[in-house]
Amino acid sequence: MASRTPLYIKMHEADNVAIVANEGGLDAGTRFADGLTLVDRVPQGHKLALTDLAAGAAVRRYNVVIGRMVKAVPAGSWIHERLLEMPEARSLEGLPIATAQREPLPPLEGHSFEGYRNADGSVGTRNILAITQTVQCVSGVVDFAVERIKRELLPKYPNVDDVVALEHGYGCGVAIDAPDAVVPIRTLRNITLNPNFGNEVMVVSLGCEKLQPERLLPPGTFAIAPEQAKGEGVGADVVCLQDGAHVGFMSMIDSILRTAEQHLKRLDARRRETVPASALVVGVQCGGSDAFSGVTANPAVGFCTDLLVRAGATVMFSETTEVRDGIAQLTARAASPEIADAMIREMAWYDAYLKRGSADRSANTTPGNKKGGLSNIVEKAMGSIVKSGSAPISGVLSPGEKLSDRGIRAGLVYAATPASDFICGTLQLAAGMNLHVFTTGRGTPYGLAECPVIKVATRSELARRWHDLMDINAGRIADGEATIAEVGWEMFRLMLDVASGRKKTWAEQWQLHNQLVLFNPAPVT
Ligand code: CA
Repeated sequence: MASRTPLYIKMHEADNVAIVANEGGLDAGTRFADGLTLVDRVPQGHKLALTDLAAGAAVRRYNVVIGRMVKAVPAGSWIHERLLEMPEARSLEGLPIATAQREPLPPLEGHSFEGYRNADGSVGTRNILAITQTVQCVSGVVDFAVERIKRELLPKYPNVDDVVALEHGYGCGVAIDAPDAVVPIRTLRNITLNPNFGNEVMVVSLGCEKLQPERLLPPGTFAIAPEQAKGEGVGADVVCLQDGAHVGFMSMIDSILRTAEQHLKRLDARRRETVPASALVVGVQCGGSDAFSGVTANPAVGFCTDLLVRAGATVMFSETTEVRDGIAQLTARAASPEIADAMIREMAWYDAYLKRGSADRSANTTPGNKKGGLSNIVEKAMGSIVKSGSAPISGVLSPGEKLSDRGIRAGLVYAATPASDFICGTLQLAAGMNLHVFTTGRGTPYGLAECPVIKVATRSELARRWHDLMDINAGRIADGEATIAEVGWEMFRLMLDVASGRKKTWAEQWQLHNQLVLFNPAPVT
């Protein structure tokens, strides 16, 4: 806070707790303007009781019961996670189905960006050569080759932004016929088809692995001229390291470089064109959340989500364990009963998946979340869901599916993923994301090589300390220096600049690239 006036933020009229806004927290004895006096010292972002709370009393934030008091405390007390008993997860029976129908949001016209049009109708925000790998065994060789491609070939093709090895831990030593193996396999296939890779598909395979190239990319998954497809029965260009023609390591490297150069030539011939903002496919997620996530950054993202949906773009929100506690709000917001059923299907699948591992949604919250004032997953979920704005939910994807698998061309989409930052980002890439928005309160340097990541700080203190890592400071909302709408518009304009290549995000500037992490719910062998 610019001033030292003690301030708390209450999210809803009916709430009986609020959070302390002041940097550094507030001491016991601090008196707010309304006369409420703190009984305990309360850290920034942590909750205080606005009234006396009896043992067993329902504690409300966002007008939702986030827990019940394990003992009585007076008004002005610090309400931390040890004082709260978490409610049971909402049953998936008897949910409101598509009951919150509202007027469609008014269209937002006249916004465009400069992007790369692809043959399949998608639009890239970057022009990247991606090298797909069928199995982890080849990754050292591909890394070596990528180093040389960047040094020797890339300077000759200045319109290509980067060369990226799609490294992962899958491909062999796995129960590849298990029903759930469909998730990692389609994820890898669909990442290969991400709009930022220009529909150029190049695969490096070992030869003896379980995930054979023809299983990963069967003919017909991708429109490629037959003369470009060298691999037998594969819809892509494949370099196989165990091929008898390779004598020695350098022969493998030469083969990868030769193949890569063909793709680089075609990518280099592409130019950015003016395309409508509707070509954006934005994945939103949060990581390293604190109690401000749901007050500043996520509501600003929600406002921006509405702008994007109004402009005809596609916005995906995800993170199943973080929306599970808001399922009744989401099924009510579904555009149709079928969409609501699909939401319930994804929640039920995840409930069963967690149960197999003797866990539940409460396994989500981290020590950092709690230190940041988030007592439990119910509270975290309410702050997370606001990223989805107010539009009807018009599509649902299972993990690893891409938008076109479900015929989705626009609107607000629930792409089911775990909340894990790297797995969520990986699955959103597979869905067809060409721009990523990531909010953080505790701070994370998260970035992806495959797609620009715009990072949004929930607090000004973080934005100041991490001035060369955070792209937007939503903490100004809590400081009273900007409104949610102002930060939402700033985000929208920054997205168009970043998508056009006019601006780089900090993660791009420093080349901060997290690994792809495939979601594999199937057994390994
Ligand atoms: Ca996350």
